[in-house]
Amino acid sequence: MYKLTIKTQFSAAHQLRGYRGKCENLHGHNWRVEVTIASEKLDDLGMVIDFKELKQRVGEILEELDHQFLNEHPPFQEVNPSSENIARHIFDRLCEGITEPHLQVDQVAVWESDTAGAVYYRKT
Ligand SMILES: [Zn+2]
Repeated sequence: MYKLTIKTQFSAAHQLRGYRGKCENLHGHNWRVEVTIASEKLDDLGMVIDFKELKQRVGEILEELDHQFLNEHPPFQEVNPSSENIARHIFDRLCEGITEPHLQVDQVAVWESDTAGAVYYRKT
């Protein structure tokens, strides 16, 4: 298997409903996002997917979140915009856009600080 990873980021505000502590208050993060795509084979150019192409697809998803108050954004109006749920949202949205049969979204990691991050992936 081959795996390819890109790193990107977005900035947004959130508050964790029901959390007893500082994170219940409105605050922001510069979230760092790492997306990994897996493939058993390479294309004619020797690549899993063009980094530029993947960055563009992820960028379109993050553009919807960037500089937003995430609690008011549709996916997070009911579920908390935790790093875990943000990772899952990006994963699911990316899966919708990856139609090439040999490509699979391997995992999405979302870091809200240098020392705290969450990963979402699906067991196969
Ligand atoms: Zn937070």
